[in-house]
Amino acid sequence: MKTVLIYSGGLDSTTLLYSLLGECKHINDEIKCLTFFYGQRHRKEISHARRIATMAGVEMREIDLGSIRPLLSGSSQTDDSVQVPEGKYDEPNMKLTVVPNRNMIMLSVAMAYAISLNAQQVAYAAHGGDHAIYPDCRPAFVDAMNDVAALCDWHQIKISAPFLAWSKGDIAAYGSKIGAPLSLTWSCYKGQEVHCGKCGACTERKEAFTTAGMQDLTEYERS
Ligand SMILES: [Zn+2]
Repeated sequence: MKTVLIYSGGLDSTTLLYSLLGECKHINDEIKCLTFFYGQRHRKEISHARRIATMAGVEMREIDLGSIRPLLSGSSQTDDSVQVPEGKYDEPNMKLTVVPNRNMIMLSVAMAYAISLNAQQVAYAAHGGDHAIYPDCRPAFVDAMNDVAALCDWHQIKISAPFLAWSKGDIAAYGSKIGAPLSLTWSCYKGQEVHCGKCGACTERKEAFTTAGMQDLTEYERS
């Protein structure tokens, strides 16, 4: 099995990376990570992704799509005039963090890479907690992308999103169990020295460790 993994350096995709590594039993099994720069606020997550991929001994390619940033206005992640909202993900203002069609952009590039590698699947770490805010993390979207993946080329690829029905707490617990280096991952939407502790991503990260009954080793900004 050859897999192209959309890898951000965050808690979810790092857990998926280690899960896929655990499934590599055959000499031809292989994981190729793609990390995307689409003009997001900071490259902090990419440096964390690089460090973890190196530790895991997995090839990681950084795909620079930074020139599309001016096309993605209205999102706090790609538009400096929009402030990063603070609080929980289920609050309406968290919609400001949605980057237009981001997962389809990344999946499209990952599918092209998978086809050229003759890989069997593209994996990404959408999870149940994303459904409320992010349409491109919902089961119907994954199903539709699987339909597209079956039609876009002669070579068939599967879109795998194994955490689709999981909470982030489930992912943290599983990641810890399989030895994923969760403390080295980056979640924060702001690109400061340490996690801000207040944005939606930080709030969700804290909750995940709490619900999983785990110690959170993340360094947060002092308030
Ligand atoms: Zn934060």
